[in-house]
Amino acid sequence: MAAATRARAGRRSSGPDPAVVGRVMRGLARAITGLEMPAVEKISESQAEDSFQVLIATALSARTQDATTLAASTRLFARAKTPKAMAALSVREIEKLIYPVSFYRNKARNVKACCEMLVDEFGGVVPGTMEELTSLPGVGRKTANLVLILAFQSRDNICVDTHVHRIANRLGWVVTKDPEETEQALYAATDRRWWASINLYLVTWGQNVCRPVYPRCGDCVIEDDCPKFGVTKRAMGYRATAVGGNR
Ligand code: SF4
Repeated sequence: MAAATRARAGRRSSGPDPAVVGRVMRGLARAITGLEMPAVEKISESQAEDSFQVLIATALSARTQDATTLAASTRLFARAKTPKAMAALSVREIEKLIYPVSFYRNKARNVKACCEMLVDEFGGVVPGTMEELTSLPGVGRKTANLVLILAFQSRDNICVDTHVHRIANRLGWVVTKDPEETEQALYAATDRRWWASINLYLVTWGQNVCRPVYPRCGDCVIEDDCPKFGVTKRAMGYRATAVGGNR
């Protein structure tokens, strides 16, 4: 029986075979060593998990290339390192510092409003609950989950962005239409021990190998455990034919 078929056959009706999930996660842990880390992980590591910098960098990272996020965050933090200092900047100054991240005007407004709220309502300290974090302007579940994982060392959260959403569906771990649905499905489908690592492993893999349109399945260390849902082999390589749960 082909490995991918074995993987499918091994799936429980409620989700993937835990042994397959474990094999994939351990394989990715080894394979991502030495690869470029996502920008927010780099900032978190270099800033000793500073919750404020993780929060702002994650908010800037939405729909933006990693290199752009890293450069914009570095410029912004060089100018203001605390909520109080950043709240004192004008929206125009923040716009100039974070340009060219996508939606930089919107994000600049949100960064300022977020910093003002941190100062006014949270004593200048980033709060540590999902409810409080998502009450901040421009902060959704993805950002809140990453802050809880990286800055508060939570092991109870999964941060799902487009890479995690896409790869979890290609692997057949979930059948979902958007990242929010994927997050909830992954809590049910995977063991808690993997939750905090899912973002780092799948985002790094998604940026380097399991790319959105042309995944490099031939170079992929987890190919034997991947049914490649939504991916088709063509003469010149592999190509995505669906994203998310549209098999
Ligand atoms: S690159 Fe291909 S084999 Fe690897 S996880 Fe993505 S779809 Fe599966």
